[in-house]
Amino acid sequence: MISSLRDSFSGKLLTDDTDVAPFVIDWRKTWRGTALAVAIPDSVEDVAKVVRWCAANNVAIVPQGGNTSQSGGSVPRDRGCNIVLSLTRLNHIRSIDPANNTMTVDAGCVLQQVQEAADTAGRYFPLSLGAEGSCTIGGNLATNAGGTAVLRYGNARDLCLGLEVVTASGEVWDGLKALRKDNAGYDLRDLFIASEGTLGVITGAVLKLFPKPAARLTAFIAVESCDDAMALFAQVTATHQTALTGFELMSRFCMDLVLEHIPGTRDPLGARSPWYVLIEFTDFQSEDSARQALETALATALDADLIQDGVIASSLDQARALWGLRENISSAQGAEGAAIKHDIAVPVSNVASFIENALAAVTHACPDIRPVIFGHLGDGNLHFNFSSPKGADQAQFFAEQDRINRTVHDLVRTYHGTISAEHGLGVLRRDEADMFRSPVEKRLMTSIKTALDPQGIMNPEKMMP
Ligand code: FAD
Repeated sequence: MISSLRDSFSGKLLTDDTDVAPFVIDWRKTWRGTALAVAIPDSVEDVAKVVRWCAANNVAIVPQGGNTSQSGGSVPRDRGCNIVLSLTRLNHIRSIDPANNTMTVDAGCVLQQVQEAADTAGRYFPLSLGAEGSCTIGGNLATNAGGTAVLRYGNARDLCLGLEVVTASGEVWDGLKALRKDNAGYDLRDLFIASEGTLGVITGAVLKLFPKPAARLTAFIAVESCDDAMALFAQVTATHQTALTGFELMSRFCMDLVLEHIPGTRDPLGARSPWYVLIEFTDFQSEDSARQALETALATALDADLIQDGVIASSLDQARALWGLRENISSAQGAEGAAIKHDIAVPVSNVASFIENALAAVTHACPDIRPVIFGHLGDGNLHFNFSSPKGADQAQFFAEQDRINRTVHDLVRTYHGTISAEHGLGVLRRDEADMFRSPVEKRLMTSIKTALDPQGIMNPEKMMP
């Protein structure tokens, strides 16, 4: 059967177990599946040919970009008849229109490549996340990725004007419109964004570009409590809303993990503090004007006793080092050992209260567990994670997983939050999310899936049971 797939398109086909192996295990090494083959097409028409072959042979398709998913969405299940469809060879910047502030790209472009192409054209593409050197724009859109600049520029959905998609039957839908207004019918683009590869394969996108900031300034601030971090956020947004592009929170234990596991990192402040925030200001005039605004904001906070200590980066290298402390937390937690992770969001005004109550509830249930709390405070999005107690047996730790998830997620619901803020449902949160959908929501979602993928071959068993 696979030889007919080989003949059906002109890209690369991997069938050897060793070649296939990296495509069927996820970034966290939690989900390992099986695949008949990995198809790596060279063009949009090539993608369509692969999908048509799969539809004709009833073979399931798992679209894959950089395989950096945190929820097991990008790898096949461990049974059934699957292929992985890797978009990595569709990696060209198709065009840039500086006057329209847009760029049209292949879905397999790596996010960093998109950022650099925008920069070369004298523009700015603001989507930014820890995996930006590996994740692809197709994956970003399929998961509606968030990252560190959502506060100012929105998430991946907000940065996309048009899409090109190969449907589940292998037709190409050209929705590559570069329009800021378009009310001509249902918004198909928005259906495919955040659909996690369950409705079609994204092959191209029109992205919004922005003026390039003259300066981006980063400060790393020690705060005594989450309440102080929240008060600082409220104060900075009240006075400097337009300059603020990032407001990230991390606990001291996150810092300890990064310092221990990530070579070349160092604590930028002298004394230890229970919590830290990383603030980014952007200015379109000059670095002096950014520095003046940031210094004014921090001086006011110091007078109000909201901050204990802090440093403003004086060079790009220093700024990168400060961001490195925040962006390496996931990797450092991975290196520390077994982890239970949550990607939740609550209204921004409830973040401190949620942290206090959720920490109390979880540590009451598991007294030695080690909380790894960090996230995009400005978006109300926390990575509310836990590492196993030092020296604990992994199996025993994971035996507690369901109870810990229940505790955290039940509390999220009382705050009218979400159990999946930016990482998508994949297989990790699929069943739990479904349990809390109303019957009408379930029916609507099932109708959409059935209409767009009647054979059920697009990334089966992901996102919805
Ligand atoms: P993959 O992992 O390959 O796939 C993800 C999902 O999208 C799968 O369901 C897959 O089937 C589907 N998919 C992929 N490409 C396509 C396509 N072309 N068409 C249709 N479906 C497709 N995420 C955030 O939102 N914010 C963060 O701050 C963040 N930080 C991270 C930090 C680290 C260190 C890591 C490892 C991950 C982080 N992530 C974050 C998660 C991850 O990087 C994002 O979900 C990213 O958008 C996935 O892109 P990808 O190309 O790797 O997609």
